[in-house]
This record gives sequence, C-alpha cells and structure tokens, in this order.
Amino acid sequence: MASFRSNTGPRRSRRLVALALGLGLASAALGTASPASADSTTETPARTAASGYVGTAEKDGTKAFFDAVLKSVAKRQAEQPSLKAVTVYYNASQAPSFRSQISSAASIWNSSVSNVKLQATSGSGDFAYYEGSDPRGSYASTDGHGSGYIFLDYAQNQQYDSVRVAAHETGHVLGLPDHYSGPCNELMSGGGPGPSCTNRYPNSTERARVNQLWANGLAKALAQVGKAG
Ligand SMILES: [Zn+2]
Repeated sequence: MASFRSNTGPRRSRRLVALALGLGLASAALGTASPASADSTTETPARTAASGYVGTAEKDGTKAFFDAVLKSVAKRQAEQPSLKAVTVYYNASQAPSFRSQISSAASIWNSSVSNVKLQATSGSGDFAYYEGSDPRGSYASTDGHGSGYIFLDYAQNQQYDSVRVAAHETGHVLGLPDHYSGPCNELMSGGGPGPSCTNRYPNSTERARVNQLWANGLAKALAQVGKAG
C-alpha cells in the first residue's frame, strides 16, 4: 500500500502553517468554533477523525463526517421545509489550486447518483475544501461537532490522478468508507491500486450505496423537520 508519510515528512512545518491558516478561515466561513480544538488535535490523531486517500489517515472518520454533513443538511431542511431534494453545499474557495478538479468531482457524483446533489457556494456550506501539504496525504475530516472539511495534499495530487483524489474524498462526504484493497474501478479504493489507477467514477455498488444512504439521510432530515415543527 502506498504511503506518503516518509516522502512528505519534511513538509510538515509548511503543512501546519497551511492547516492553521485554512482552519482559521474555516472558522470565519463556517461560523464554528472548531479551529482551536482541531489544531490542537494535530499531535493526537486519535481525536481527529479522518479518512484518507491512502491508508495513513485515521479510518474511523467517515461516519462522523457523514453524520456532520447530515446534521447540517437537516438543519437547512428544517429552515426550508419546502425543499424536496437533498443538496449538499460545498465551499471550495480555500482550495484555489484544485478548482477544476473539485468541480469535476462534483459533476462526476452528480451524474452518478440521484438522491443527493453537490452544489458550490461562496457562503457557508455544509463542508469545505482546503489545500496544503500533509504527511498523511489528502483526507476528509471532522471535529465530531458538525464541522467537516476535505484536505487536498499538493504532493499526493501530483503523484495520483487529482480528479480521482478529489472524487474519492468527496465520496467520504457522501458516506462511503475507505476500501484500499479494492480494484481500480472502485473509487473508494483510493491509492490502493497505485498511481496508475486513473478511474474517477464510483462503480455501481458505490453508486447504489450512496443512493441508499441518502434515502435514509433524507428520512433523517425530515424527521428532524418534524421535531423542529
Ligand atoms: Zn479515503
């Protein structure tokens, strides 16, 4: 299994600066109080739930991130009960180097599944993309308190197909876990099949799973609307 831990170790200091900057902006963009606590977890990964493109990130973060996104979506559904479709909004303004890849990843998912749609926003979204250098590579992360973000690592996105990386991490937002032992036609096998794998699309099983998750997600959101009303 590919690992970037040793390759990108020296970039750590740059990464910390980038992450601190990104999270500071995240606070402004998302209106949360997460940056201080998220930054403090840098040295204690067990407290930071994350799912990466390769097996170097924590692997237990997918459900927490998915729940955080669901919570955010449900809150909006409660405010606007007439909304029928489940739309997840993302802010990509803090990942300017990956603007086209993120847009492609959203288009890929929007053409692949029907029960949830991704849409860009310049305001506070349900999650955000950031860029920088991290020894763990790219990953999706949540602080466990309703705030999630996707981090895109410069070095990893040069070695691997960048749209596949972005689409993979976005798959975590939609509720899919890592499956590094899977074949290239699985999006969530991530870096497992190696850099030569350039498949950017979820396979039929992954599509079906996301549609299933968001059918339930919609039910959960509507249940919260009921509670709120
Ligand atoms: Zn992953």
